[in-house]
Amino acid sequence: LKYIGRFAPSPTGPLHFGSLVAAVASYCDAKANNGKWLLRIEDLDKPREVSGATQTILLQLACFGFIWDDEIIYQSERTFIYQAALNALSKQKLTYPCTCSRKEIADAATHKGIEGAIYPGTCLHERIKLHAPIAWRIKAPDSVIAFEDRIQGKQSQNIAQDIGDYVLKRVDQLFAYQLAVVVDDADQHITHVVRGVDLLNSTARQIYLQQSLQLTSVQYAHIPVVTNAQGEKLSKQTLAPAINSHNAAEELCYALQFLNQNPPEYLKRESLTTIWDWAIDHWSIAKIQPNINNCI
Ligand code: GLU
Ligand code: ZN
Repeated sequence: LKYIGRFAPSPTGPLHFGSLVAAVASYCDAKANNGKWLLRIEDLDKPREVSGATQTILLQLACFGFIWDDEIIYQSERTFIYQAALNALSKQKLTYPCTCSRKEIADAATHKGIEGAIYPGTCLHERIKLHAPIAWRIKAPDSVIAFEDRIQGKQSQNIAQDIGDYVLKRVDQLFAYQLAVVVDDADQHITHVVRGVDLLNSTARQIYLQQSLQLTSVQYAHIPVVTNAQGEKLSKQTLAPAINSHNAAEELCYALQFLNQNPPEYLKRESLTTIWDWAIDHWSIAKIQPNINNCI
């Protein structure tokens, strides 16, 4: 199969309009390319999980007429696989243990990156603290990682300068999103990732992990994220309302509208099947404008 796409929601709450847009974009792009569309539940961060959210998300997707291929993958069941990947990186001497607390990092940091203080590498140069909980970091490469995003165009990042040595396994022993997403995309044979532009910044870190683990690379397309009237990304933190399964046809058309696909006015009164047929038939990723934060 030339195209395997995916949608990878975190069960921190029900899907909101922003997550619907990401689901619709990844679905249409997969189906318009005769590809598969897989579902992965990113329930790695148990402390942030909301009980029942996974069931709600699956129900919402079904009500909107999404049909996923193959079995659903749950990250919470894959800890051993992430550990094996971490071991493989450690064997290549790319990682090191870190016992710094958040405060110690903030106090010791002298450089700011795009995500705040850059970790100064204390534990790489000094002895780690005995009996302290250990996180695992990967040494950031001091070279430019470049890729072509299908929507955002040419991208490049020097991880050492912009981010610093990043965490693969946290002090609470949970695996970091950056590692899990790379391992899972490879295990599900994902060829194309379509997701929100808020993750554009993570992409170089993920490409570096793919390269270090000798995994095949992926094509990326980062769609604009939906913001509220205050300009904040829709999320559980900004109290975004859940999508309404009783109004699926109309909300689906709004999502297509947001993605600049120009659905005709009459479409919202049609059946979900008709809407999906239209959406896949008329899908054009080229119509999506780069990096514009649109209000709903
Ligand atoms: N689980 C992530 C989220 O809900 C998406 C990860 C991805 O698409 O790479 O924001
Ligand atoms: Zn440290």
